[in-house]
Amino acid sequence: MPSIRVVNLKKYFGKVKAVDGVSFEVKDGEFVALLGPSGCGKTTTLLTLAGIYKPTSGEIYFDDVLVNDVPPKYREVGMVFQNYALYPHMTVFENIAFPLRARKIPKEEIEKRVVEIARKLLIDNLLERRPSQLSGGQQQRVALARALVKQPKVLLFDEPLSNLDANLRMLMRAEIKHLQQELGITSVYVTHDQAEAMTMASRIAVFNQGKLVQYGTPDEIYENPKNMFVASFIGNPPTNFLKGFSVEVEKGQTILKRDDVVLKIPKELETNLKEVVVGIRPEHCEVVHNKQENAIPGTVYVVEPLGRDIIVNVQTDRGELVKVFGDPAKIPSVGEKVFLVPHLEKIHLFNPETEETIL
Ligand code: ATP
Repeated sequence: MPSIRVVNLKKYFGKVKAVDGVSFEVKDGEFVALLGPSGCGKTTTLLTLAGIYKPTSGEIYFDDVLVNDVPPKYREVGMVFQNYALYPHMTVFENIAFPLRARKIPKEEIEKRVVEIARKLLIDNLLERRPSQLSGGQQQRVALARALVKQPKVLLFDEPLSNLDANLRMLMRAEIKHLQQELGITSVYVTHDQAEAMTMASRIAVFNQGKLVQYGTPDEIYENPKNMFVASFIGNPPTNFLKGFSVEVEKGQTILKRDDVVLKIPKELETNLKEVVVGIRPEHCEVVHNKQENAIPGTVYVVEPLGRDIIVNVQTDRGELVKVFGDPAKIPSVGEKVFLVPHLEKIHLFNPETEETIL
């Protein structure tokens, strides 16, 4: 399977800079997710990899071969879309066989390959049905089978699970990951769902406004977000940001102050900044009832039960709403005065101007 290398890719539509100087590589057999909000250039990047769009500038290599001018049908890519794009008047068998018929492959070989891939995707009992007689999940499997039957060298996914309900999405997420690992096909997967990217991909490319903001493993991106955008996009609920903390650096520690709050970070920070933004993940903070060191006062605003966890929403004295995971055995009452105690070794600090991470 080929590796993919994208070098300074730009794709402009008139004045719209859909993709604006993006570089990354995907290793042979790797599963990479392109993650970002709507309109950030993920799909455009994917369609350029497929050869459907021609880059405005930049290079795309499959292995070390420049493919900028290679038409889609010679790139040996399989694509799976959100809307399945199945032919309604054809049976499942015919839908899966379609790309093979177009290549004039002998009938027996087509039959063998369609049945084989249908078995792998657990849809071999549906081959005589039409798409309208299938559930959304089954239709998505057919679309996947049709992409795989060509034995592509690269698989490109564009939000393939967006139309499925939450349960089915989780099920298919695991199945696609399993299948990709089994087949070892180099894969690029576009999604705006951070949970999908985190759970499926070995590396994630986080996009924003046509640019690649950060590229790394799910752990790297979660543990060391490059800026506030990445810190807020990865994790659910997202990172809480508390603004307006002044900074004093002492030997061995950094002291952050705001109103009556003092947070003593056990690390010396090199900075000229007078003020920083504090980022606290919902899983890195306790809600307590007694005033103590490193505590931020607030009032319980609402509690959201999730079964195994609860999310406690605490409003700080400055009016920010902070979401924190809590213990379902100790549900606080709305209106109760509480204190937020962040795990200081886990918090991040950001430059309020550039929004870049400084700790
Ligand atoms: P979504 O998740 O909503 O699909 P995306 O990250 O995939 O978003 P793109 O579809 O790549 O984003 O679009 C990036 C930008 O380029 C958007 O501003 C979009 O409006 C614009 N764009 C995309 N395709 C075209 C086109 N064919 N003509 C003009 N503008 C386009």
